[in-house]
Amino acid sequence: MSINIAIDGPAGAGKSTVARRAAEKLGFVYVDTGAMYRAIALYLIRQGVKPEEKEVIAGRCAGADVSITYQNGEQVVSLNGENVNGLIRTDEVTRMSSAASAVPEVRARLLDLQRGLAAKNNVLMDGRDIGTCILPDAQVKIFLTASTAVRAKRRYDELAAKGDAAETLESVEAKIMKRDEDDRNREISPLREAPDAVHLDTSDMNIEEAVEAVLSICREKGCIG
Ligand code: C5P
Repeated sequence: MSINIAIDGPAGAGKSTVARRAAEKLGFVYVDTGAMYRAIALYLIRQGVKPEEKEVIAGRCAGADVSITYQNGEQVVSLNGENVNGLIRTDEVTRMSSAASAVPEVRARLLDLQRGLAAKNNVLMDGRDIGTCILPDAQVKIFLTASTAVRAKRRYDELAAKGDAAETLESVEAKIMKRDEDDRNREISPLREAPDAVHLDTSDMNIEEAVEAVLSICREKGCIG
């Protein structure tokens, strides 16, 4: 049987960076489920759909075929056969992915893909509903979070490092809070901490410390040596 580690948490908590590095150290497959929602969002944007058009999203998402492969250990997300890794981190895609993820038909399209990867491989999967809904029997569940102010500052620094100085810290924080609120309050698979998840607040940790904390939780749970 494969070993499954679920890491959930709000936007900007550093989940993907920490999860990717922890997976590398464990020799597990890292599955970034947010990237799958982002690929569907890109498809919808290309179709001219608007985030508020929930019914159109429900109907059109069937045309988005998302698949995952790995190249040199990196997850490659393909949309109808096209590698879209470089196209799914824009603000527009972020907004659409958050809106589309509240539509049951969109979530249903990704369920089998996510469960299939976890059934065949030792995975460390990150998202919003992995421990609560996708992999309820995961051997380890971690809810990785940080204060809103810290998450906003990390995101702001990331944008500044990319030379994107258009946004203020306040606007970054406002967007993060809106996305959290939408993820927590949607009817289907809302962002929730699973009752059996270990709560990991990384507000005062750097990336290495957070990775070490994840690995030590896995050790305590007895699923790695
Ligand atoms: O994690 P990331 O920011 O890339 O996710 C983009 C969006 O996809 C999130 O804001 C969330 O609405 C949605 N998502 C989700 N369930 C997941 C992963 C992501 O609803 N398992």
